[in-house]
Amino acid sequence: MRITTAQAQALAAFVARVRDDWDHPGIVAAIQKAAPLGSPAAIGAALCRLAENRELRTPAMLADPGTHWSGTTVAKVAPPVMCVDHPSQPARACPECIAAAVPADQCAAWQRPKHTRRPTVVRREPTPADLAETRARADREAQA
Ligand SMILES: [Zn+2]
Repeated sequence: MRITTAQAQALAAFVARVRDDWDHPGIVAAIQKAAPLGSPAAIGAALCRLAENRELRTPAMLADPGTHWSGTTVAKVAPPVMCVDHPSQPARACPECIAAAVPADQCAAWQRPKHTRRPTVVRREPTPADLAETRARADREAQA
């Protein structure tokens, strides 16, 4: 969904009243730059978060990634995973790492924010030693 001119103008009019130090054309320009990123509501939410930050002199960073997008559908779109050693190349398909024979798992050392990553559950089969220990403990408990 794209934001319409009428929606962008209305949103800019509201934000210009909240932030009288930001000029209306500049707000419209920031909205238009961010338009491909998400829904009008997501853009409005992100713009309002920026407006809350009194240290910002303009809303120019609206289209940039940042915490102002948190909670919106834009924030749920995963950023491209890039190789940590060759940031211009995609991780797991980095031609330079492939040429240097770096295993793909080591190439993709990009880390997601912790809250989006579920803990890895490690399951393993019990070893004979584990079973023997468990049996011994059960025997001890049965005798106690
Ligand atoms: Zn690489």
